[in-house]
Amino acid sequence: MVEARGVSKSFGTNQVLRSITLDVKRGEVMCMIGPSGSGKSTFLRCINHLENIDAGRLRVDGRLVGYEERGDKLYELKPKVAARQRRDIGMVFQRFNLFPHMTALENVIEAPVQVKGERKGVAVERARALLERVGLSGKADAYPAHLSGGQQQRVAIARALAMEPKLMLFDEPTSALDPELVGEVLDVMKQLAASGMTMIVVTHEMGFAREVADSLVFMDGGVVVEEGDPREVLANPQHERTKAFLGKVL
Ligand code: ATP
Ligand code: MG
Repeated sequence: MVEARGVSKSFGTNQVLRSITLDVKRGEVMCMIGPSGSGKSTFLRCINHLENIDAGRLRVDGRLVGYEERGDKLYELKPKVAARQRRDIGMVFQRFNLFPHMTALENVIEAPVQVKGERKGVAVERARALLERVGLSGKADAYPAHLSGGQQQRVAIARALAMEPKLMLFDEPTSALDPELVGEVLDVMKQLAASGMTMIVVTHEMGFAREVADSLVFMDGGVVVEEGDPREVLANPQHERTKAFLGKVL
């Protein structure tokens, strides 16, 4: 579902991604860990073309993301075409980014109605089902300010799912939450994984990685230092940098 081949990205003279090559197969969950500044968020942002890339190829579901290839050159897609591609990719951030002036239900129907032009009745029906799926059927009419962080993050997940994405990207979805609220969000993500969703999750929740992920990637300094079965990587890291990092977070 996701194929990264030699993806590189710089901001000015700061090379943030150095030839990243990774694969996530359909229905698989990949977790990414690594120190602050190692390029995890940037990599996710490249996958849905919120950032352009300087070199390499990035494909989602077999299609080049954000570019078309002519000869051996890449040409950036028009913003409208890129935006259409991006609809297939759901993203959930550390900060929930809900629209504060809209209820939970309104947040969830916003993109399907405004972006996809879906009929409101259809969107509302799906939104109610999604809110139920994330355990919030009683909160459809609540505004974000009246929801806990964990509830807001679950609304954010429902909102991303409302676009019926092929792929979900999570960027530290639980790291802004109070510890007692982390579990409810991880449970929703586990359920989603079990339903067959393809997911890339940047997280330092090692229990989640061990239990749910098919692969675990350790990034440092813009390179993939180590990748493998999460249990193996966590129990028996091969590289000094991985060992040092895990020593700090485990
Ligand atoms: P964290 O764990 O702190 O979230 P990260 O692994 O997600 O870190 P990134 O946010 O991808 O790291 O940042 C990687 C590097 O790219 C950092 O040096 C950061 O300062 C730089 N960077 C990220 N976004 C931009 C930007 N829009 N403009 C300039 N530099 C940026
Ligand atoms: Mg980040």
